[in-house]
Amino acid sequence: RRGLADLPPIVSDSLLALIAMVNADTRSEKIDVGVGVYRDGEGRTPVMRAVREAEQRLHDTQQSKSYLGGAGDKAFAQLLRPIVLGRHAGDERIVGLQTPGGCGALFLALKLAAVVNPDARVIMGTPTWPNHPPMTRGARLEISEYRHYDADNRKVDFAAMAEALDAGRPGDVALLHACCHNPTGADLSEDEWRDVAAIVARRGLLPLVDFAYQGFGRGLEADRFGVELLLDACDEVLITQSCDKNFAVYRDRVGCLFVKAASADNASFALTHLLQISREAWSMPPDHGAACVRTVLENADLAADWRAELDSMHARIRTVRQTIAAADPRLSFIADQQGMFSMLPLSLDQVKQLRSKHAIYMADSGRANLVGIADRDLDRFCSAVVETMN
Ligand code: PMP
Repeated sequence: RRGLADLPPIVSDSLLALIAMVNADTRSEKIDVGVGVYRDGEGRTPVMRAVREAEQRLHDTQQSKSYLGGAGDKAFAQLLRPIVLGRHAGDERIVGLQTPGGCGALFLALKLAAVVNPDARVIMGTPTWPNHPPMTRGARLEISEYRHYDADNRKVDFAAMAEALDAGRPGDVALLHACCHNPTGADLSEDEWRDVAAIVARRGLLPLVDFAYQGFGRGLEADRFGVELLLDACDEVLITQSCDKNFAVYRDRVGCLFVKAASADNASFALTHLLQISREAWSMPPDHGAACVRTVLENADLAADWRAELDSMHARIRTVRQTIAAADPRLSFIADQQGMFSMLPLSLDQVKQLRSKHAIYMADSGRANLVGIADRDLDRFCSAVVETMN
């Protein structure tokens, strides 16, 4: 009999190793740009004001925590539609289902794609969010990679992307980042989105759009540009949404999967499959975070305050990007990118030197969460990076 002792070793996630390194460093001036959460100018990740108020209201009024069912909080998914789907919010061919975070939505989307077409390949750019490949393999789908990021020229390798999508077979999945590409920050231009939507539609690919950072890029409405275009162009679309960043409810695990099918009947039928898949995995999504988001969105005063606070987070992301970009011409590309992340033009040796000499911690790849830097540390961060590049 084989036992637990026979389990194969796991290749450890290098970001987890980085967290351990940061924790072990006792220097008070250390800067952690490895972490993947929004931090304010003082280096905190606070509960948003509207969410805190929603929690209070829920605490005062919630009468029961009895089961809600596999689809979770239906009003939550309904209220997200105008935000996530924009001009397609009223389309009855789109169904939404609450999920445990963006991860839960991705899990369901990939599993559903595998039921529809077990031979589908998932076409994804590199680098991508490190959880995309294992989740794809977990759904027993094959991966087909292309180069998303041209590190020498610090921009999207659009030719590679277009070629890879054009080589897709009907039914293959095109995994796309809606905005704020993680880990590179290099997003598509509007013209590139138009080309992508046209290729995906022409080749009969199934677009799976990972929408984890709405509001952190060009703004809440502008960030859904690609999502709306794909919904214009395609009969079938999967959108995996997360509220964990833009409502800052990370650990409460709040997400939603939107599925567009060719007809409303097809969409409801797909929903029965999704409920079957989620039943086997988590049965029902956790309620608290989604109930808070719902409470925010159904109260105009809270919704306006959430929007104002999100916009100020967005403004900070822009300011930090501009400050770093202005520090050296070799960093100017950072101002043109979106979201919290960027790949700094540093070798592994230079990344290590930043850790040992300056107590600045980023991933081996040079990926840095730029809003991980508190205002008081920004100048020091810029000079240390420029000194190290020289
Ligand atoms: N997609 C991307 C690109 C992400 O960066 C993340 C979170 N780091 C997720 C999905 C999943 O987010 P959640 O925490 O809501 O599961």
